[in-house]
Amino acid sequence: MSYTKSTSKRNKIALVDCNSFYVSCERLFNPRIQKKAVVVLSNNDGCVISRSTEAKILGIKMGEPYFKVKDLVKKNKVEVFSSNYALYGDISRRVMRVLRTFSPKVEIYSIDEAFIDLSFIDEKGAEEYGKEIRSRVLKWTGIPTSVGIATTKTLSKVANHIAKKEKAGVVYLNKDIDERLKKFAIEDVWGVGRQLSKFYYKNNIKNAYDLKNVSNYWVKKGTNVLGAKTAMELRGVPCIDLQIDQEKRKNCCVSRSFGRKVTEIEELEESVTTHCLNAAEKIRADDQLAKTITVFVRTSPFDKSKKYYSNSKTIDLPIATNNSLELIKNATKALSEIYVKGHRYQKAGVILTGLKDEKESQENLLTPLMDNKSKSLMKAIDYTNSKYGRYAISIAHAGLSKGWKMRREHSSKIDTASFDSLPIINI
Ligand SMILES: [Mg+2]
Repeated sequence: MSYTKSTSKRNKIALVDCNSFYVSCERLFNPRIQKKAVVVLSNNDGCVISRSTEAKILGIKMGEPYFKVKDLVKKNKVEVFSSNYALYGDISRRVMRVLRTFSPKVEIYSIDEAFIDLSFIDEKGAEEYGKEIRSRVLKWTGIPTSVGIATTKTLSKVANHIAKKEKAGVVYLNKDIDERLKKFAIEDVWGVGRQLSKFYYKNNIKNAYDLKNVSNYWVKKGTNVLGAKTAMELRGVPCIDLQIDQEKRKNCCVSRSFGRKVTEIEELEESVTTHCLNAAEKIRADDQLAKTITVFVRTSPFDKSKKYYSNSKTIDLPIATNNSLELIKNATKALSEIYVKGHRYQKAGVILTGLKDEKESQENLLTPLMDNKSKSLMKAIDYTNSKYGRYAISIAHAGLSKGWKMRREHSSKIDTASFDSLPIINI
């Protein structure tokens, strides 16, 4: 398809949002649950964090604790999944890659949402282009999306919201804007949190249209610069730029709650080692090195029968590294300093900070950098794990028992880092 170039310089921003993203990811690999009510639960199977349309109709609310809906789930044979973030992350990257084929300017806003600059598209072509985005993402990744297009980010959020509500697929907000804004509740406006909407209601601002028409002076005085920007954006004046440069992360934290309470240092070592491996793999993928490593442990703050214990230890590494073995060595040392026998630990984690680019880092003449041998070993580990499944190669210390692993009773166990689990899509 070809599109005429926009002659007017009118801004056009599309917000592409995946529909019930986590549920859609689970459905990719499970044809049996296509039309069924499905929910995905948060870490440790705590709360409902994604619902299929069928589950929404049953009255299952977003964020509701799982135990509260258990009866409803049982009665209606709702399919329940523990969250599988490795899977969702991989599918998200695929979706974003497809979106980049539509515009060089893409801001990844969250795991399932992205803003795309479509200012180069003609007025008349905008809706058609939105439809093309939807169908290509669906065809190439299997994920259904909704697309909202408007002149500002805030308005494209409104358009997307309407597209979802009306199941329209694509909404291009270029006419009857005021009528739409009058029906748009103030608390649903992007950037208006719970606190701010309370303040607006008190001042008789109940919908997006009301906010659009307040004076800049008033809104700036009553809220802050961001509040004023939101009001401007509702008027169609772009104030919030697309953040396109993908900044590299400044730190990398990997932590998990244990499925059950852990008391022995050996078990904590296993978990800290696994977290180190994950964190090291992440920063290696970004060609980064870490200058400091922090290990933390804590018991449950809700366990009233025991005294709460929480501690952390930071080690400045003599030389920045992304070598798993080096990091594990230091993490284990840090752990031994904060471990106190007798506690029932609930969580352990590793944080890598002072991250910097591998290429930019100055070689220290006194200490050799990671030697080539271990560098190629790390590369081999990353490659093998990406090809044959996460943890195909690990370090002996990471242990095989994993008795502490997170509770994920309903996990689909799909890992797209594993070749055998890749979905086959017929085009
Ligand atoms: Mg979504």
